[in-house]
Amino acid sequence: MTARNSIISMLFVCLSCLATMFFVEQRWHDQVASPLSNLVPFISIILFVVVIFTLALRQALTMYVASIIALSTIAHFYILPYFSEQQALANAPLMLKLQTEHLLMSFIVLLPIFGLITIPAHRLIKSFLYLLGSLIAWVFFSIVISKAEPIVIEVSTKVFSSIAMHNPFETFWFTPLEFALICITMVAMLVIVLGSHKNLYLLAIAVMAGYVIAKPSPVSIVLLACLASLLCLYSAIMNSRNMAFNDELTSIPARRSMTQYADELSRHFTVVMIDVDHFKRFNDKYGHDSGDDVLKLVASKIAKTRNGARAFRYGGEEFTLVFDGKYIDDVRETIEDLRVEIESYPMAIRVQKRSQKSASQSRNRRQSPLRQEIVKVTCSFGIAESLSGSKDFKPTLKRADNALYKAKKAGRNCVRTA
Ligand code: GH3
Ligand code: MG
Ligand code: MG
Repeated sequence: MTARNSIISMLFVCLSCLATMFFVEQRWHDQVASPLSNLVPFISIILFVVVIFTLALRQALTMYVASIIALSTIAHFYILPYFSEQQALANAPLMLKLQTEHLLMSFIVLLPIFGLITIPAHRLIKSFLYLLGSLIAWVFFSIVISKAEPIVIEVSTKVFSSIAMHNPFETFWFTPLEFALICITMVAMLVIVLGSHKNLYLLAIAVMAGYVIAKPSPVSIVLLACLASLLCLYSAIMNSRNMAFNDELTSIPARRSMTQYADELSRHFTVVMIDVDHFKRFNDKYGHDSGDDVLKLVASKIAKTRNGARAFRYGGEEFTLVFDGKYIDDVRETIEDLRVEIESYPMAIRVQKRSQKSASQSRNRRQSPLRQEIVKVTCSFGIAESLSGSKDFKPTLKRADNALYKAKKAGRNCVRTA
């Protein structure tokens, strides 16, 4: 699927979800209330499946969205009613006037914050910590909003009455605090979506959550949970599809996967550019098919690199290794080992038996028998580490490429650093 097709399909799914939300909530509000509410346990289970799925795929933001929508739904139907019942039974004044709207408001506000600060959630344990931290932040901010809301309403009422003006918030969908927070969040969300269309589903979920805040009802909450789980699942599948977009010849991840992986990187990482030496000569001597065999063998060696490396085929006879959380000194030995490993590896390739006797025979080369030949190839390596404080991947890649150029100039089959 091309990038343009994926934008269009994402846009289509998001708009369909928004339309379903508004249409069902407004048209069939009364008719669907009870069957939809019965779905709550099932929707919650689906959302938790999405959380586990996205945890496995290391998609931290989707994991955050799914878990909070699930918890908000459970809170609305089970936890919050239980607490208000207990407080009513004890005849105590309400200590915490926490409502579903506060939970959702906190969710919307934190969404762009978690979207903008990319936490390196590429390891399972880091993803788990991210989830835990975001949940704590969400609960804390929900309580802050619930406490601040009455104060802001009081102040705004006073302001409007002091200037002898009708208070527009009396009949408006949102309270003054909600309105201010939603405006700020929507601007931030737009910035995120313009940065990467992959995040369009987040904007759609935020709009739906905003709608629920304006019209909180069991139907709107269940609709939000259903549609948000659908969007999260869709986005996770699309992302994993792209991630799984491996190079056809070598079966290792292609450059496109590398661009996606670059978004997940932490601030320290090291990039290694690898280029097969004199590969054109090799192709000329043994033929393109044998060249392909060599590329497969080299790729399999590179893909086995340890020390937390992720291997990609950059293009042609060039490969890239990315080490997240590592400096040049951490990977130097690994790369030197890889260089020696490739240099000393006898590669068995299929070679066409050639005889240069006549042109007709050479035209029949395709039919001539194959024989095995052992060849050896070498590679040159250029290493660069991220500049301190910069998460930018491209400049580091460029410097690794310059280092590779140095290795070529130094006679090939060697490692050079930026
Ligand atoms: P250097 O040591 O300077 O890197 O020399 P080189 O010959 O490897 O570099 P150059 O960039 O001149 O040639 C790269 C060659 O790689 C040219 C192209 O035919 C070949 N190549 C690129 N992709 C493939 C492929 O998928 N299969 C095969 N068989 N050859 C490929
Ligand atoms: Mg090259
Ligand atoms: Mg080359």
